[in-house]
Amino acid sequence: PPALVQRDQKHDTAAVQTLDSAHFIHPFTDHADLAAQGAKVIVKADNIHVFDSEGHKMLDAMSGLWCVNAGYARKELADAAYQQMMTLPFYNNFFNTTNVPAVRLAAKLASLAPEVDGRSFRHVFYSSSGSESNDTNVRMVRRYWDLLGQPQRKVIIGRLNGYHGSTMAGASLGGMSGMHAQGDLPIPDIQHIEQPYFAEKARAGESAAEFGVRAARWLEDKILAVGPDRVAAFIGEPVQGAGGVIIPPDTYWPEIQRIVDKYGILLISDEVICAFGRLGHWFAYEKFGYKPDLITFAKGVTSGYVPLGGVMVGDRVAKVLIEQGGEFNHGYTYSGHPVACAVALANIELMEREGLVERVRNDTGPYLAERFEELQAHPLVGAADTCGFVGGITLVKNKATMAAFDADVGVGMICRGHCFKNGLIMRAVGDRMIIAPPLVMTRAQVDELMGLIKLCLDATLDELRSAGKL
Ligand code: PMP
Repeated sequence: PPALVQRDQKHDTAAVQTLDSAHFIHPFTDHADLAAQGAKVIVKADNIHVFDSEGHKMLDAMSGLWCVNAGYARKELADAAYQQMMTLPFYNNFFNTTNVPAVRLAAKLASLAPEVDGRSFRHVFYSSSGSESNDTNVRMVRRYWDLLGQPQRKVIIGRLNGYHGSTMAGASLGGMSGMHAQGDLPIPDIQHIEQPYFAEKARAGESAAEFGVRAARWLEDKILAVGPDRVAAFIGEPVQGAGGVIIPPDTYWPEIQRIVDKYGILLISDEVICAFGRLGHWFAYEKFGYKPDLITFAKGVTSGYVPLGGVMVGDRVAKVLIEQGGEFNHGYTYSGHPVACAVALANIELMEREGLVERVRNDTGPYLAERFEELQAHPLVGAADTCGFVGGITLVKNKATMAAFDADVGVGMICRGHCFKNGLIMRAVGDRMIIAPPLVMTRAQVDELMGLIKLCLDATLDELRSAGKL
């Protein structure tokens, strides 16, 4: 194979792209498109910036894929991995064995998840990703009801435009129509309700608070339609991430809680994006004031440095599963991987030492919100909102009427193109531009981010005007 990196650390971009096209099937990618453009080769990263093989520096406002919470190039995390690899790189946790990092991390995670109304989280089941963790949830929830003598309770209700991963169960729990269209999904006994997206679903004159309650009651309608004794659980993201950073009204989650309590069904909080400081709390249910039975986590637990995911198992489920369950025939080779757990511990220590969670909650999160407000004045911006360190900007054709662009304009992709050109990584979800910056971002770096966002919005506006699309 060709030498992809020369001695002087110069990268042969074309050679990488050729090999990439020849051999690498990428996630969620149209390969004809990719081959035509050539993949952008990311070669290194530091703090909040990534660098490509051509030497371009980009501000990564997406934290990789919502995960590099502690920022790039943290030596503490590399050291933790190295030391653990030299001590015990791997051993399984089947057959009555365990390892020290996995035990220490489980106890640490339990201490970070606040107790609400006497409900606490003392147990953790490990996986290596968010998708696997949600597969675990499906099996655990059904096992729970089996053990309680209610095996007919199988139906799990998720939401349209929710995202819970890409495995058979994960993609089924999610409500992405494009994913359901491939491979006969959803699997049986998964149902969906509409998302709590105020901008799209509110009635004329309805307040956000009223809408939040009405949107939550779609869950009750669905439970009644399915039959309350057949419903096992409801799953939702605290704030929908991949669906476009959809922030629910404050009234939404308390009403969801009332409904799941009324029918006795389990509540799964998928916090793969929202936990570990993203919303200014270690776990996001604390922010919205609800009481999940199971919490899915991944991504930020290791700041993405190595793969790790899992499920925080609340007392209600743990009691049944552990005390009366016998063997749960489920687990992964890498459940409780010692290196991943050691890196997670180092990551949490680092975040505690630097006060990153509190900083997002009390300082940089509110500052980002304040600066996002200014975007409302831009001619292209219909809405700009944040929650902690996630944010979304809705691009509209007409601010006064909030009329959307025609789909064939592809305004999100145009804007994303200008972002790339100007050294900013933002993601486009339809006509919504979204961000989830590393939690280490300072106020000065928030200013840098906002300057770039404004520049890219202006460039998008210029292009649309000169192409006669406005
Ligand atoms: N749940 C949520 C809420 C997510 O955002 C994601 C990934 N973006 C997943 C699950 C799946 O995680 P993974 O890609 O690690 O399987």
